[in-house]
Amino acid sequence: MSETVTNWAGNITYAAKELHRPHSLDALRALVAGSARVRVLGSGHSFNEIAEPGAGGVLLSLAELPAPVDVDTAARTVRVGGGVRYAELARVVHAHGLALPNMASLPHISVAGSVATGTHGSGVANGSLAAPVREVELVTADGSTLRIGREDARFGGAVTSLGALGVVTALTLDLEPAFEVEQHVFTELPLERLEFETVARAAYSVSLFTDWRAPGFGQVWLKRRTDQPLPGFPWARPATEKMHPVPGMPAVNCTEQFGVPGPWHERLPHFRAEFTPSSGAELQSEYLLPRPYALDALRALDAIRTTLAPVLQICEVRTVAADEQWLSPSYGRETVALHFTWVADTAAVLPVVRRLEEALEGLDARPHWGKVFTMPAETLRERYPRLADFRELARSLDPGGTFTNAFLRDFLQPLS
Ligand SMILES: Cc1cc2nc3c(=O)[nH]c(=O)nc-3n(C[C@H](O)[C@H](O)[C@H](O)COP(=O)(O)OP(=O)(O)OC[C@H]3O[C@@H](n4cnc5c(N)ncnc54)[C@H](O)[C@@H]3O)c2cc1C
Repeated sequence: MSETVTNWAGNITYAAKELHRPHSLDALRALVAGSARVRVLGSGHSFNEIAEPGAGGVLLSLAELPAPVDVDTAARTVRVGGGVRYAELARVVHAHGLALPNMASLPHISVAGSVATGTHGSGVANGSLAAPVREVELVTADGSTLRIGREDARFGGAVTSLGALGVVTALTLDLEPAFEVEQHVFTELPLERLEFETVARAAYSVSLFTDWRAPGFGQVWLKRRTDQPLPGFPWARPATEKMHPVPGMPAVNCTEQFGVPGPWHERLPHFRAEFTPSSGAELQSEYLLPRPYALDALRALDAIRTTLAPVLQICEVRTVAADEQWLSPSYGRETVALHFTWVADTAAVLPVVRRLEEALEGLDARPHWGKVFTMPAETLRERYPRLADFRELARSLDPGGTFTNAFLRDFLQPLS
């Protein structure tokens, strides 16, 4: 059987002519043990070749495997299958009166694929989506199964692992009691009046949006937990109509605004599960920097805004709390994340991405693993102080490099 397999954005067509969809754990283990090169495709929402197994390699989907979402209300944990998406996880968790601490901008993405790349939402006190993970279950290169929990010295490499350690067949996550959130949108916050730290702390989760056609933010989204104080927001005007972050896109695709309280999973994402997220025709890039550099970075972007704006649909600025996953872009530092939704034109976007990376030089930017970047492997390696530990872990679990691909090879190879 031959099929064309692409990512969500359609900018990557995988070399594999078939997407293998095993129906049982045993079939998955046999397939992995009998294959020289394997990569898993989650929900395919990455914009680069991170999931590409290469010609002759096996591309694997967990979509046909049993997909448990088993909540333990007493322990406040959930064990979730490797192919499950956040929309389904959140629905079940909420039905048990429990919650995840945070979500990304969309619930359409798979849990295992998201935590593998350091995917995040926003909030100065909210870690990446990997933060609540307490145990990872893997099928490793020889087809055997392995559990790595928080108490294990290898755990720091096990969650945000870029798919390099094996197939993640299940994850166990910590939960908290369900909570409600209100979403308030404000408009027109000039860059010159931006007190970044104060604005970022104004609510549980804060996002600033700009198309860089002017030096400021057209929209600021505040997601306030109703069990936390009501923020004053004197820096910008409240929106008078429901808004979509991307100018011209229908606001009906977005989660409820105007301060209408609702369950955590229907407010923390910007986009509703039953609609196309974001613009649908796009590429994305994102850079995560130490948060004290936020204003310097925004001024650096302002200085090149005439280069950015022609290929930019929207830029979003968020914050992420420091975490302890060795390959997490927010590893070891309070973080500001600068996100770019570009037009869907690789040839036009790549030179601008290069220019953007130059503009951020000296600010210790780490690119999002699942998005478009041009930063060379030598530079990336310098940005990850625990890379040697991860390399050691990958070698011990996958000595033959079954789960390595071209994307990872440069990054993981020993420094000469
Ligand atoms: C519209 C849109 C909005 C987005 N919003 C955000 C956002 O708000 N915040 C953010 O940080 N990112 C965001 N992203 C990026 C996205 O979250 C990441 O690219 C994430 O990796 C997507 O998960 P996925 O399952 O689709 O990953 P895939 O692209 O399918 O895979 C990503 C990596 O994970 C590996 N992988 C997947 N499943 C497994 C498994 N079971 N076992 C082992 N390895 C596995 C793959 O091999 C690959 O290396 C967005 C993307 C889109 C398209």
